[in-house]
Amino acid sequence: GIRKASEDQLPRYVRVNTLKTTMEDVIDYFKREGFSYQGQAARLDDLRSLSGKTFLCDQHLPELLVFPPKMDFHAHFLYQAGHIVLQDKASCLPAYLLNPPPGAHVLDACAAPGNKTSQLAAIMGNKGKLVAFDLDAKRLSTMSTLLLRAGVTCQQLANQDFLKVDPESPEYRGVEYILLDPSCSGSGMVCLRDSSPAPPQEEEARLQALAAFQLRCLNHALRFPRLQRLVYSTCSVHKQENEEVVSAGLQQNEGYRLIPVLPSWPERGLEPLTQCLRASTTHTLTHGFFVALLERRPPSSEDAA
Ligand code: SAM
Repeated sequence: GIRKASEDQLPRYVRVNTLKTTMEDVIDYFKREGFSYQGQAARLDDLRSLSGKTFLCDQHLPELLVFPPKMDFHAHFLYQAGHIVLQDKASCLPAYLLNPPPGAHVLDACAAPGNKTSQLAAIMGNKGKLVAFDLDAKRLSTMSTLLLRAGVTCQQLANQDFLKVDPESPEYRGVEYILLDPSCSGSGMVCLRDSSPAPPQEEEARLQALAAFQLRCLNHALRFPRLQRLVYSTCSVHKQENEEVVSAGLQQNEGYRLIPVLPSWPERGLEPLTQCLRASTTHTLTHGFFVALLERRPPSSEDAA
């Protein structure tokens, strides 16, 4: 097929890990290495025009730096030491929007390899209860290395099927925040897009199976009795895995509603779910992504004491 955008054309995003350092220190470090700091971006074109040894602060996410395409920091001291995390801008949205306060009780339902878990811990200042589930033991062990490097200490990792976690159990009935980033088709990942697609019928069956799993996860998450907020995200571009899952989940759980987020974000969920965000190479200079924020409805006045 025609190659619209490759990973090599996307800016490189660097999340500053505030458990180990500060924005100021990281900016100073790069300046001393000869990078020229151009301040905060005001529009998407500022990101598009980055080249050479220059960098910016992102316009939407407070702890995100933006470098030109192809900049590789995997061997960089700040990465090795866990001061920076190499994370696409779109995938920084879920934890940022969930925004659990220090001391909160949080679940990361499908957590490995854990960049979003580490971001949640940073937002919580390592204070509170952060339980991360994943079915895949190998991915979980990668995750514990990653969290150790990032200085995360408030986590509890569980090699467990999230769908089998009992929402009423004493351990979990106090959960207030859930990040739900379930397995998806990955159709938003730029590097996967050129792989030869399966025949349409197979592809459709695969999407249906994924969507059914995603909806089961969402319904399950909404059963936690003290849940206040939930973020649902995928790196898929298909509405079957995104808006359709969220619409069905809301229909089946009337106690929750969608919250409009980031009014300045340029790409919205498909109609009528414009409270949600989408991301793409063309509109946001990121991988393809979808995020929804759900909140429990306040008790109606009739129920109030
Ligand atoms: N949130 C992760 C991050 O930011 O690094 C990425 C999560 S990835 C999209 C989905 C994960 O869900 C996979 O690691 C997979 O092993 C896990 N998974 C799939 N089914 C699960 C289940 N029933 N319970 C828990 N984890 C599951």
